[in-house]
Amino acid sequence: DVLARRSMPEPSKKAPPPPKAEAPLDVDELRAHLAAGRIEPYFQPIVSARTLKPVGAEVLSRLRLPDGTILGAGAFIPLAERSGLIMEVTRVLSERLIQLAPQLRPLGFDFLSVNLSAANVQGEDVAVLIKRLVDAFSGGTRIVIELTETAMLSDLQQMRALTSHLRLGGASLSIDDFGVGYSSIRALAELPYDALKIDLSFVAEMFDSEKAANLVDSMLRMGHSLSLDVVAEGVETEAQRDRLIAMGVDRLQGYLFGRPMPIDQLVCSSDQPDQP
Ligand code: C2E
Ligand code: CA
Ligand code: CA
Ligand code: CA
Repeated sequence: DVLARRSMPEPSKKAPPPPKAEAPLDVDELRAHLAAGRIEPYFQPIVSARTLKPVGAEVLSRLRLPDGTILGAGAFIPLAERSGLIMEVTRVLSERLIQLAPQLRPLGFDFLSVNLSAANVQGEDVAVLIKRLVDAFSGGTRIVIELTETAMLSDLQQMRALTSHLRLGGASLSIDDFGVGYSSIRALAELPYDALKIDLSFVAEMFDSEKAANLVDSMLRMGHSLSLDVVAEGVETEAQRDRLIAMGVDRLQGYLFGRPMPIDQLVCSSDQPDQP
């Protein structure tokens, strides 16, 4: 069953490298890394289902340790959320993106997506921060804010205020990990969303059963009936890609098209316009 299997580790094709015998980060270490500005944005391409060309990218946070080690989001985002440091993560990340705007804008993406957590959503200055980000990219690249359903559990009234602030600031909104949380359908109908991302667990299971495929199809139809663009994440195989395109998905994201990568690699992999 799709929901029950969500919490199990993802099956991996190759065995991961043996984990280094490192103690996990503690709050004080994370605070010190943040103070030193060690959050790095990685970028994962999102392609149009029509052209299979990148039309945007999702920004995913990484922590660069002084010895050069790069920690994935799983190593510090949950800790940041629990400890109240998530707003600082978002602040450092946004500053970095603003700094990188002169390199990012010429790539010609329609949009860049940035994730916000539940804890962010309760912070008051997040809308101000996002407005600065929007302004740094205005006239070229839209900023899309990806909100998970857990970010919305709190209070629909509060969410209405925040989402309209973000919208007024010029950001677009996307509902992330759709299908995994709760109260999604009400929120979907009542909040000013532009797009919906079908959680990668559904994409991973769409060939397991007729039921699983129908679930993806239902989410797609629901999104379209509410005039939302529908994005499928976690696309790893050509079979998944082709089936999703046949179903009518608007955009695709996943290892099949590219892994999250640092800016230098993103700049190299993008089709640059011909230089005179
Ligand atoms: P998410 O927003 O659902 O991001 C998608 C995750 O799926 C990313 O993991 C991405 O690397 C991974 N992914 C992309 N394509 C594939 C694929 O084809 N197959 C598989 N198996 N995985 C794929 P990542 O980068 O480790 O991020 C994990 C989560 O951490 C994100 O899930 C997001 O919820 C959170 N996160 C990351 N950066 C930030 C941030 O700056 N702020 C906040 N609040 N949360 C963040
Ligand atoms: Ca996301
Ligand atoms: Ca997601
Ligand atoms: Ca997720």
